[in-house]
Amino acid sequence: MVFEGLAEKLQNTLKKLKGKGKLTEQDVAEAMREVKLALLEADVNFKVVKDFVKKVKERAIGVDVLESLTPGQQVIKIVNEELTDLMGQTQSKLTFASTPPTIIMLVGLQGAGKTTTCGKLSGLLKKQGKRPLLIAGDIYRPAAIKQLQVVGSQVDVPVFTMGDKLSPVDIVKAGVEHGINHGNDVIIIDTAGRLHINEELMEELQDVKSTTKPHEILLVIDSMTGQDAVNVAEEFNGKLGIDGVILTKLDGDTRGGAALSVRAVTNKPIKYVGLGEKLEDLEPFHPDRMASRILGMGDVLSLIEKAQASFDAEKAKELHNKMKTQQFTFEDFLEQLQQVKNMGPISQLLDMVPGAGGKQLKNLEVDEKELVHIQAIIQSMTKEERLNPSIINGSRRKRVAKGSGTSVQQVNRLLKQFEQTRKMMKQFADMEKSMKKGGKFK
Ligand code: GDP
Repeated sequence: MVFEGLAEKLQNTLKKLKGKGKLTEQDVAEAMREVKLALLEADVNFKVVKDFVKKVKERAIGVDVLESLTPGQQVIKIVNEELTDLMGQTQSKLTFASTPPTIIMLVGLQGAGKTTTCGKLSGLLKKQGKRPLLIAGDIYRPAAIKQLQVVGSQVDVPVFTMGDKLSPVDIVKAGVEHGINHGNDVIIIDTAGRLHINEELMEELQDVKSTTKPHEILLVIDSMTGQDAVNVAEEFNGKLGIDGVILTKLDGDTRGGAALSVRAVTNKPIKYVGLGEKLEDLEPFHPDRMASRILGMGDVLSLIEKAQASFDAEKAKELHNKMKTQQFTFEDFLEQLQQVKNMGPISQLLDMVPGAGGKQLKNLEVDEKELVHIQAIIQSMTKEERLNPSIINGSRRKRVAKGSGTSVQQVNRLLKQFEQTRKMMKQFADMEKSMKKGGKFK
């Protein structure tokens, strides 16, 4: 999980304060020393840590006692507010041009995830009803153009390329014109990176900038490189001027130092975070929600948004009716599984559940492989079998096991579980009915 170590240490420190009815200056000082260590271990910039702890300490010692909170709870509230502030308070959205197209330039070092992020961002904007165009401006890295074409086709977004013989300035000029002529309202430019920042790179990016006059220059940095990423951001901002940051590979970063320092050091917000290699793994960055996640308060809003994006309200109602009338079949079950899978990896979902990052739930060891098996078993059934599982006799069970690459025991187990679930649904439905009759359930 992102921020795993930091989350655990901060939560442990703050838990000690929570129960106390009264806090002495000594208590606060002791807690802040631990907070400071935890932040430093998470690779947060030293100066940022110093300022952060100073602010929290000042506020924590001078607080007016709120009636509804114990002093300990109040310190947690302050830490939460200051963490949110550190990361930029509220979500920082993209600026769209009042007269389209909006031009977005993605810059960054090689390997940071620029090309992948071009695909992710264009896919996200397309889902929001935009008509994006990608321009392949990286003429140096072998295969960068082909890679952009591949991700473009995966999200069904056109890619403008002129090969690698012309200068990036000529390519982007022609690309923007192409976009305007084809009614694209967002144009995303993939620029070249280098292994390290150098004069040549900066000059080239400045030329592309003055040619296209982008509305947004977004710097892509790799979260796993910690303070190096923050230094890169500082340099790009000083030399080129950036409007925001996209922080990639947060899924593999257990420390989170870059996420916590980059805004404070550069004064530029994180606009999106990359949370995996798949093209749907890009999310807008919400400082307040991230702070809550770090403090183990969960991120219920993101969870609800994910659920809303993958679940269909009409279907949910239909399902409820089917459950009540006992018409729930393996077909419905399969659809349900698919919807849960659409929400993303279960481990990521659990991180959003309040209470120590859903730790208790994690102990249940949700086995995603098991879900894959269940899906394979159902898919190996004929339509008739899915609608009426009682016809699945011994020889059919053997066939289903073979077809799904599982064992007869696994098929038996699923059939039994399904039958039990159906029975339970009936009991619930009966209970609901009798309560309604009794007038308690209106
Ligand atoms: P570029 O040189 O900046 O264009 O970088 P690429 O787009 O080629 O990405 C470099 C590597 O990082 C690729 O293997 C990507 O799949 C991977 N990558 C990019 N973003 C993410 C992310 O958010 N999470 C993870 N785990 N991998 C990522």
